Amino acid sequence: MIPLVKEEKELEVWGIEKCYFKCGNNTRFWHWRTNQPICKECAKTHKVAEIEKCHPKYKVPTKAQYMNSL
Ligand SMILES: [Zn+2]
Repeated sequence: MIPLVKEEKELEVWGIEKCYFKCGNNTRFWHWRTNQPICKECAKTHKVAEIEKCHPKYKVPTKAQYMNSL
């Protein structure tokens, strides 16, 4: 189970993303530690360890910082 946060404000700028796991779903949900878009279906069946960071040097923010940046 992957914990997700819902993207709210940036939707108008970035649109809806395709799920990281290539399942074909569009998603508004993100895994904030890796900054990757993940759909709710894949979140149920995958683990955090399967997700690579969006960038190797991506600095993981605290959840509060991440939510503020949305
Ligand atoms: Zn998916």
